[in-house]
Amino acid sequence: MAKYIAVDVGGTHIRVAVFGSKGIIPERVTRIATQQPEENALDRLQNQISKFWPENEPVAAIGIAAPGPVDQKQGIIFAAPNIPGWINLPLRSILEERFAVPVALGNDANLAALGEWNYGAGQGHHYLLYLTISTGIGGAAICDDQLILGAHGLATELGHVTIDPNGPICSCGRPGHLEAFSSGTAIARYVANQMAAGVHSSLSGTPTPTARQISQAAQAGDRLAQAALERAGQYLGIGLANYAEIFNPSIMILGGGVSRSGSYFWDPMNAVLQKAVMSPAYLHDLIVVPAALGDDAGLLGALALGRSLQIPEIVS
Ligand SMILES: [Zn+2]
Repeated sequence: MAKYIAVDVGGTHIRVAVFGSKGIIPERVTRIATQQPEENALDRLQNQISKFWPENEPVAAIGIAAPGPVDQKQGIIFAAPNIPGWINLPLRSILEERFAVPVALGNDANLAALGEWNYGAGQGHHYLLYLTISTGIGGAAICDDQLILGAHGLATELGHVTIDPNGPICSCGRPGHLEAFSSGTAIARYVANQMAAGVHSSLSGTPTPTARQISQAAQAGDRLAQAALERAGQYLGIGLANYAEIFNPSIMILGGGVSRSGSYFWDPMNAVLQKAVMSPAYLHDLIVVPAALGDDAGLLGALALGRSLQIPEIVS
């Protein structure tokens, strides 16, 4: 039986896993730091794949989820945040040359959507929207059973759509993007600013609380923390209404740490979504659900991409 190697590359960690031709339980999996002073990220990635290479069984394909903008068609990473030197890196051809098997490469948010669609919350849907809401906001859309990539693989940057041109500055430097309102970073910044302005909170002893601490404080009854999550949820609801009108999905899947903030986040989001769409027809049969695969979504999306190469079964 042929094996598939799936890789999830992040700014801090690389995960490499070996799977069979079916199922989502890895036969082997490892997690290493992306960078070390004595070894660059590309060498670490290749050496780790080598270590995991099955001894007596053929490998059908390698699938890789990579951070930042990726040209999935050409197999090129344009610029990986937090990995120095990964600029216009032709990772697919580098790995195909080294390992002599087909390699497929995709952006991590796109592949997380592919993972949820194949193996998680989105199974059976043909029109799917995926958002990961953590430090930043990433997104992807599947339409007519196709991942939307765009002319250069840059489509569906759903965190960087403008919600309010007079809003706070986004991590990308532009004003008022959704990420600047509803990401974990934005929630943390809002609470810190409110406390600095004198608003009382149980977090007052923590001048720069994390989104996770804010979520916990909200559950414990802190009014500022609750208001911060409600505000983030309301702005996300505006974003979701826009996406409903653009993509008309039958399911929206929300992953990432902020999506686990409970009803203080979800209820205002749903309420604004209902009110902001131009027609209730967009809400017909639309479900908005939490992601099912957690941190494994990207890795399993890389697996799905590798398996989608449809390599004929190799007889060993
Ligand atoms: Zn932005």
